[in-house]
Amino acid sequence: WRRSMEKYSLVKVIGEGSFGRAVLVRCKSSQEKYVVKEIQLPKNQSKLENSRREAILLSRMKHPNIVAFREAFEADELLWIVMEYCSGGDLLQRIKQQKSNQFSVDNILKWFAEMCAGAKHIHDQRVLHRDLKSKNIFLTDNGTVKLGDFGSACILNSSKAYAHAYVGTPYYVAPEIWDNKPYNNKSDVWSLGCVLYELCTLRHPFQASSWKSLILKVCRGAYPPLPSHLPYELQYLVKQMFKTNPKDRPSLHTILTSHRVSKLLRTHL
Ligand code: ADP
Ligand code: MG
Repeated sequence: WRRSMEKYSLVKVIGEGSFGRAVLVRCKSSQEKYVVKEIQLPKNQSKLENSRREAILLSRMKHPNIVAFREAFEADELLWIVMEYCSGGDLLQRIKQQKSNQFSVDNILKWFAEMCAGAKHIHDQRVLHRDLKSKNIFLTDNGTVKLGDFGSACILNSSKAYAHAYVGTPYYVAPEIWDNKPYNNKSDVWSLGCVLYELCTLRHPFQASSWKSLILKVCRGAYPPLPSHLPYELQYLVKQMFKTNPKDRPSLHTILTSHRVSKLLRTHL
């Protein structure tokens, strides 16, 4: 906590990862709470750029469904990213709290529409998120969802998009990535399809006891059907988002404007 951070006081540590840690802070003058992601900066020049990319890309996003960037500092091999605090925690925790009690269709569609709007904003800036999953989607105190964790994000068509050093949980990874093809906007759509499926069933669409059989299921697009009480349009949407060829998968623009989905959203929201 060097000079730059003096205007904030530490409340508690809320997350720890390979990057460093995430802490809840309070601004001494306004009393507002924020989250600070504290990242250890590497000495190596190209890795340094990777670490800074998260702050740069997040700072470019301004949307009600993306965690708001406030400011960033660098000092003594540390990078601090100050951002909006989402007090409702992440969507994975929220899903786990449900136990076996399903979310209502209205609730599923509201959150889904919000995450698509956030992701469309990211794609409209020619950025890919590349780590969309329920653990990286946060809830505010009024129940709005916001996309966060830009630690894997990259600019579309940059050489970086090809070299996806894959680290996270494998459940959300699109078939083309296992096939060593470049990450593209439709790979983010696949991941959001996984989150939509999770909201509908409280389970992952692709689950297996080994890597090999997981990858096989993903590459075949083989998932257990959604419960039949869910609206047909929702089943159709999931099916489209899980097309194994990214070209056949709808873009976020198509999802948000397609006749079927907008009708679904109109009747439920
Ligand atoms: P990583 O996944 O790279 O470790 P994240 O940015 O996802 O880093 O942050 C780690 C954890 O910190 C999250 O899983 C979440 O629990 C918490 N967290 C991060 N950002 C926020 C935020 N804006 N509001 C609330 N909690 C957050
Ligand atoms: Mg994360």
